[in-house]
Amino acid sequence: MSLDGVVHDPDVPFLYADDLGAVRGEGVFETMLLRGGRVRKVGLHLDRLTDGARLLGLPTLDRAAAARVIDIAAAEWVARNGDAEAMMRLAYSRGRESAPSAGPTGYVTVAPVPERIVATRSSGVRVMTLNRGYTTDFAAAAPWQLLGAKTLSFATNMAAVRHANGQGFDEVIYLSADGYVLEGARASVIAVTGRTLVTPQPGVGILPGTTQWAIYAEARRSGWEARTALLTVDDLCAADSVWLISSVTLAARVTVIDSTVMAAGDEGDFRDLVDRSITE
Ligand SMILES: *Cc1c(COP(=O)(O)O)cnc(C)c1O
Repeated sequence: MSLDGVVHDPDVPFLYADDLGAVRGEGVFETMLLRGGRVRKVGLHLDRLTDGARLLGLPTLDRAAAARVIDIAAAEWVARNGDAEAMMRLAYSRGRESAPSAGPTGYVTVAPVPERIVATRSSGVRVMTLNRGYTTDFAAAAPWQLLGAKTLSFATNMAAVRHANGQGFDEVIYLSADGYVLEGARASVIAVTGRTLVTPQPGVGILPGTTQWAIYAEARRSGWEARTALLTVDDLCAADSVWLISSVTLAARVTVIDSTVMAAGDEGDFRDLVDRSITE
């Protein structure tokens, strides 16, 4: 459905062929989890979408309209599919090249959570590290790289995953050119040791993850230690467990990093912590 609140038939064309989101990837998006009839962490997703729109110089997101559409789309899904989990995507682009005055394009789609994602929650993921090509001090000096925005220009992320798949891995962890852990192609990285969480520090050229943020808030409420740091692959391999964290998958345990098989040791209560962090 579009941000004006109109529900569309998903099998009828919706975008114009000259939409700048489609032809240049000029837009931002969010992927959210619809569970138990409720979309989780809507506020955090709309905050990030608003920030991303600002970085791309898009018109300010009409937050109230977006929140209303998310509610209507969730109700439509529940009416058709009951309690089934779903993935809700909100896309917001610069709109039509030939009609700039028509304003931005915004719409929401809802679909079942893919089987592949459900499987990785229990089976975990084998991860290949890939060099992202910039140093950890690059993002601050290069705002035009849009490293803090979840842009529709996702082709390189998908290419990275295909590259890893071709080598027998499921997912990717990007490293900076100076050798530090950044993030997954579509997930944040958290290392867990005892009741201490560590994730790469902000500002190193990664997307701020809403799920990582929510987990950190819940961890601190629950008396866990939750830190940010410059992390190396050795740090990951030395942790009790390492996780790829994102809104729809939630937590996929890393079973292999390159040639290192991670010990299948104790997960502590980390999964419970993740579940508690997304109750709203
Ligand atoms: C979407 C995404 C994440 C995870 O963000 P969530 O808000 O937790 O879903 C992390 N890194 C990248 C590159 C992403 O695209």
